[in-house]
Amino acid sequence: MADNIIQEDVKRIVDLLGTTSRQLSDQTILVTGGAGFLGKYIVRTLQYLNKHVLDKPCKIVILDNFITGLRGVLEEDETTQVLEQDISKPFTIDGDIDYIMHAASIAAPLMYSKFPIETIDVGFVGTKNMLQIARDKKVKSMLFFSTSEVYGNPDPKFIPTPETYFGNVSCIGPRAAYDEPKRIGETLCMTYHDQFNIPVNIVRPFNIYGPGMRLDDGRGAINFVVAALKGEKIPVYGDGGNTRTWCYVTDAITGFFQVLLSNQHGEVFNIGSDEQEIEMKHLAEIVAGLVQHKDVTIHNVVGPNEAYSKADVSRRCPDLTKIRTVIGYVPHINLIKGMTRFIAWADDTLKHQATTGNHEKCRICNNENLQLVLSLGESPLANNLLAQDDLDKKEDVFPLDMMYCATCHLCQLNYVVPPEEMFNNYLYVTSTTQTFRDHFAAMAQSLTEEFKLDEQSLVVDIGSNDGLLLKNFNTKVVGVEPAENLCEIARKDGVETFLGYFDENIVNSIVQLKGRADVVTANNVFAHIGNIQEVAKNVKNTLKPDGVFVIEVQYVLDTLKDLTFDNIYHEHVSYFSVISLKDFFSRQDMSVFKVQHVDTHGGSIRVFIQKAGGTRPEDASVKEFIENEKVAGLDRFETYQAFGQKIKNIKENLRNFVQKAKQEGKSIVGYGAPAKATTALNFYGITGEDIDYIVEDNPLKHDKIVPGVRIPIKSKEMATQTPPDYMMILAWNFADEIVKNNEQLRQQGVQFVVPSPEVKIV
Ligand code: UDP
Repeated sequence: MADNIIQEDVKRIVDLLGTTSRQLSDQTILVTGGAGFLGKYIVRTLQYLNKHVLDKPCKIVILDNFITGLRGVLEEDETTQVLEQDISKPFTIDGDIDYIMHAASIAAPLMYSKFPIETIDVGFVGTKNMLQIARDKKVKSMLFFSTSEVYGNPDPKFIPTPETYFGNVSCIGPRAAYDEPKRIGETLCMTYHDQFNIPVNIVRPFNIYGPGMRLDDGRGAINFVVAALKGEKIPVYGDGGNTRTWCYVTDAITGFFQVLLSNQHGEVFNIGSDEQEIEMKHLAEIVAGLVQHKDVTIHNVVGPNEAYSKADVSRRCPDLTKIRTVIGYVPHINLIKGMTRFIAWADDTLKHQATTGNHEKCRICNNENLQLVLSLGESPLANNLLAQDDLDKKEDVFPLDMMYCATCHLCQLNYVVPPEEMFNNYLYVTSTTQTFRDHFAAMAQSLTEEFKLDEQSLVVDIGSNDGLLLKNFNTKVVGVEPAENLCEIARKDGVETFLGYFDENIVNSIVQLKGRADVVTANNVFAHIGNIQEVAKNVKNTLKPDGVFVIEVQYVLDTLKDLTFDNIYHEHVSYFSVISLKDFFSRQDMSVFKVQHVDTHGGSIRVFIQKAGGTRPEDASVKEFIENEKVAGLDRFETYQAFGQKIKNIKENLRNFVQKAKQEGKSIVGYGAPAKATTALNFYGITGEDIDYIVEDNPLKHDKIVPGVRIPIKSKEMATQTPPDYMMILAWNFADEIVKNNEQLRQQGVQFVVPSPEVKIV
C-alpha cells in the first residue's frame, strides 16, 4: 500500500504537468541525489512518463553517493541508470545530457549536522561541478535545488518572504553548513548564467513533506507522525511556537518540473505552500487528531541539542507571487489532505518495512534498558557480495551489536537495516546443498504425517526462497518471497510464488485466491524480520482456526554453547530461545505447543505454534526446553556476557594461526562464502592479504568479492589446479559435507582447517 500511495502521487504529478512534460521525450535527464526524498519522486515521475506519456522514452541518469539516500529505493530499468558518485569529487559522464535536476544535498538538520563537511562539499563543489557539466554538455535547462534556509531566520517584516529578501543568516551558526553552501551554490548558478549563458534556474523549497521521507531523518513532520503512530508522545521542541508552512510533495515536484521546463532562465523561485502558517504545537495537534485509534499525547521537549535549539528558525512562510504568476504554479493539496496521505504511508511503512534504524527498546516488550552482549563493530551487509565494479566505491557499514533484554530474555540487534537493502536480490539459494535438500524433504514428510495433510490442504511458506520446501509437499502450496530472482526460479519449477513481503496485501490475496492455510511455515526467516508482531498478526489471518504455524530459527543456546558468533549479522535481528518465543507468542494471542531441535545452521529449533485456545495440548518438550535453558542461564545476562568474552579469544587464536601460516610461507584459501563468513572475517580482520580467495559451490557467487575484507570468490577448479596448503572451512556448518566432497583436494595435500571455536585441522 505504501508504494501505491507514491504511485498515485506520481500519476497526479504527471496529470498536473499535462502536455508540458512532452518536452522530455527522447531527452537525457541527469538527476543528482536521485535516492533522496525529492530525487526519488523525480525519478519515479520520469519513469511513469516513460511508460505512459512520452512518445519516445527519456533516459534517466541518477547520481547519488548514498550517504543519506537508501540504495534499495531505486528501481533500475532499461531507461534508468544509477551511478554511485559523490558529485563533489571530479568525475566525467559519457554521452549527451539535455536536462539537469541537481537535487543532491543533505537537507535534514539532524543529518547535515552529522555530515557537515559533506553537506558543504555537495552544495558548493558539487554545484560547481554540475554547472560545468551543464556548460560542457550544453544542456537545455538546469534546476538547482536551493532552500528557504537561505533566508535564515527572517525578519518578521519579510513574512511572507519574497525572493528579493536577502536573508538573515549566520555564516558560523549551527545551520551554516547547510545554508551557506546553498547560498554560494546560488551565487555560482547566477555567475554561470551571466558569464556563460547557462540556462539555470534556482528553486527555494519551503518545508516539503510526504511519502518517501526517511523515517529517521529527524525533521518535524516525520517525527510527529512516527511518534503518533507508535503511540509515543509527540515531541514538540521548545514551546512549539515556531511557525512553518507545509507543502505536500506532489505540489513541489510539479513545480520543479514546471520551472525546469519553462522558458525562464537565471531566475529564482520560492516553492512551497502559502496556505497557512501554523505553529508546531498546532501541527502536533493536527497530527494527533488524524492518527486514528491511538491515544496520542503531545509533550514539550528541548531540541536534540542546545546548538540546534538556539539556531532554530522562528518563522518560515513563502511569498509565492512570483512562481504563481510567472510559472503558473498552484499548490493544490491542503494540510489535512496531505497529512492524511502522509500518515497512511508512514503507517504502512512502519508496519511492513520499518522498525529499521536504531532501536533503543526491546522489540518484544519495549524494555528500554537493553544490555550489550557483544559488539562486532561496524560491519558490511553479510550477503551483499561486491562485484568487480564496486571495488572503487565506498562500502556501507552498519553497527552490529547484540543486545539482551532482561525482561523477556530476547537477544537482538539494536540496529535494523532496511529489508530492501538486504533481501530484494538475494544470492542465497536453499537448494545449493544436499543438507538442505534432505532437510526440507524430511520436514515436508513429517508435517504431512503429523497434521494429516492431503491434496486439499494448503501450505504457505514465508520467505520461500527457490521453493525447495514447498516442492516436497503433495498439498496445495503458495510461497511468498521478496527476491525477484528467487521467485523466478521457484515459478519456473512450478511452485506458485507471490513476490513480496508477507504483508496484509499478500495475505488478503492468498486467502481470496486459495483459502486459509492448514500450515504456515517460516524457515530461517522469522529471526530476520524486525516487525514480528505484524507477521504474527498476518499469520493468524492466514491460518484456519486449527492451523499451525511452524518456524525454524537458529537456537541461541547453540550459538552460546558452540560459540558460533558468526551467525550474528544484520539479517538476523533476533536470537531466540524458547523462553523468549513463548513470551512473544503469548503476547500475540498464540501459543507454542511443541519444540524440536534440528541440526541446520549450526543448531536450530523448530517451533510449533497455534492460535490461543487451540485444541492441541502443550507437548512436554516445551517445558523441557525451558528448563534446560534456565539451567544453561539463558535468563541471566552474565551468561551472555561470558559468551562475548570467549568470542574475543577466538579472534586472537585465529589471527595467531594465520600469522604463523603466513610466516611459514603457507597459502590459505577459504571454503564457502556464506553470510557468516563475512561477519567472521570482518570481525577477525582477516582480509585478502591473508586468504587468497574463497571457493564456493554456488555459481551465483563466483567472481564476487566478500565485502569489507575484500576476498574474491572463485569456483573449485582454481583450488584443484593449484592446491593451497590450507583450506579454511568458513561454511563450518557444512564441514562434514565439504571434507567428504573434496577428498581429491586432500589427496593433493590440502589440509582442511575449521577456524572456530578452536582452530582445528580436520
Ligand atoms: N521540531 C519539533 N519536533 C521535532 C522536530 C522538529 O518540534 O521532532 C520543530 C523544529 O524545532 C522546527 C520545526 O519543527 O522549529 C521544523 O523543523 P524541521 O526540522 O522540520 O525543519 P526546518 O524548517 O527547521 O528546517
